[in-house]
Amino acid sequence: MSDPSDKTGKTPEWVSCKHSIDKLVEYLDGTLAPEEQRALDRHFKLCPPCLDLLRKYRAVPKLCQRALADEVPEETAGRLTSFLRAKCKGC
Ligand SMILES: [Zn+2]
Repeated sequence: MSDPSDKTGKTPEWVSCKHSIDKLVEYLDGTLAPEEQRALDRHFKLCPPCLDLLRKYRAVPKLCQRALADEVPEETAGRLTSFLRAKCKGC
């Protein structure tokens, strides 16, 4: 299933922390569209809490990442988002 918002032809200039977290697994897998991959790259460069999270997430074995992504995406994203909101006021 594809997201209809991907078909607008617009390159996302900035993505939210929640969006970055939602897409983290795909980002690490390299399965995102190139422009989305770049948008997340940009986010991680400008958002230290998300970069920190990315580094931590990279340390998690791939199988666990997939299990997390498949089984508890909303809960995981929700918890990470609350964590990040507390740290990252600008997003
Ligand atoms: Zn962020």
